[in-house]
Order: sequence, then structure tokens, then C-alpha cells
Amino acid sequence: MFHLGLTKSMLEGAGVALLPGDPGRVANLASLPPFTNPKELAYHREFRSMLTTLGDHRVLVTSTGIGGPSTAIVIDELAQLGIRAFLRVGTTGAIQPGIEPGEIIITTGAVRLDGASTHYAPIEYPAVAHYHMVQALIQASQELSIPYHAGVTASTDTFYPGQERKGFSGYIPLRFEGQTEELRRLHVLNYEMESATVLTLTSCMGLIGGCVEGVVINRTSNESINPEDLKLGEHNATRVAVKAIEILFVNEGIGGR
Ligand code: URA
Repeated sequence: MFHLGLTKSMLEGAGVALLPGDPGRVANLASLPPFTNPKELAYHREFRSMLTTLGDHRVLVTSTGIGGPSTAIVIDELAQLGIRAFLRVGTTGAIQPGIEPGEIIITTGAVRLDGASTHYAPIEYPAVAHYHMVQALIQASQELSIPYHAGVTASTDTFYPGQERKGFSGYIPLRFEGQTEELRRLHVLNYEMESATVLTLTSCMGLIGGCVEGVVINRTSNESINPEDLKLGEHNATRVAVKAIEILFVNEGIGGR
């Protein structure tokens, strides 16, 4: 594949991919128990891929980079190589009160505030998670006793204006002013930057998609992310994602070799 630097044979029959955003988190994810024998396959731009092993199965871990365009490349190229189930694991900012850093958001559907997903399906098409993924993520959170919230996520193309933050210019375009309050009233739980792309592409291609995010900030009470909260959010989301992969293999037989 042009961007990922992978071939079908390199995946050794893997049918499931775990998708962190950050290439720096790939090696850690691929070597977390119960995964064994992690090996590096390729590393180009923001796309780092490692193959790991779960019992008799191979699991691919590939970073997406930040946002829709690079995420769409990952989903499309991996689907062309035989991956059929995609679980994004990332971080997020909560916008409802009462959601604490370190808690988990399980995205059941995404508000499509990205651009990339509109190149695959019209905006009326829903960005929804596969129910097996939602079930597995809920079960995983419960087994690990990590508090979780399952619901709708707002997925944006930008971290600053698109999530109603003032960046360098200090100006938030009018169309984003008041957006966070509107989303809050619509019971949207959180902001992040990839779920609209992951869930639209997987749904419209007949694939299995899910997204789990660790909360690193609550925007109702705070506007700056502290390093401990970031670590905790990443850590808990990772634990839930790995447990959910195990559940998917055991309960649903999803995952190929
Ligand atoms: N990721 C986002 O996209 N937004 C946040 O507020 C935190 C993490």
C-alpha cells in the first residue's frame, strides 16, 4: 500500500486493527499483555504499523495520525489488505458536566463535523459504531471497573476553532460560536477528531468499526490539559481497547487468523 508500506502477506491473515492516533503509542499497545511477539512492519510519515499476537490470532496496530484525511487513508488501505474490524483508541475532551478525566467514552455515533467522511458517503449517512464493538467495549469497561459513558461524540477537523477554542488569532469563526453549548443540549458527550471518519467509512464499506476514547479534560470546568490526566486517559482507553479485542475474538469470533 502506497502510504502504509504494507502488503497483504505482511499481515499474516490479521482481520482486526487497533488504531491509536499517535505513532508513539503503537509499540506500547502492541506489547501490552495479553499480546505477545510484537514486530514492527513499517513506519512512514504518521503511519506506524506493528503486528502482534493474541493466542492463535494476529492483530495489527496502526497509527492514524490526527484527523480525518490520514485516518481515511488507513481505513481504506487496510480494508484493501483484508482488515475487516477497526477499533480506534484515542483521547477526548468531555463537554458534559460530571465526566471525569480517566473515564471512558464509548462512541455509539458521531456528529460528522469532519470533511473526509463526506468523500465516502453523503452527510445524511450516519456515522455509527458496529453493535458488536459497542457491546465489547461496554463489557470490557465493566470487567475492568473503569467508569464509561456510551453515546454521541462530536468529531471535528480542527482542535481549535472546530472545538470552539481560541487559537493564535483569538478569533472563532461565527459558525462555531455557541456550537459547544448546542452540542451539550443535544446530549453530545465529547469532542475528538477521528470517529466521524472511522465510523462512516466502516459502516458504508460494510466493515466493523468502533471508537473508544479516554477523557483527558472536561471543558465545562477546565481549558488546559494536564499531563497526569492525559496519561490516565490514554492508559484507561488502552486497557479497555485491548480487553475489547479479546472479547471480540472470544464472543464473536471476529478477527481472522
Ligand atoms: N482530543 C480532542 O480532539 N479534543 C480534546 O479536547 C482532547 C483531546
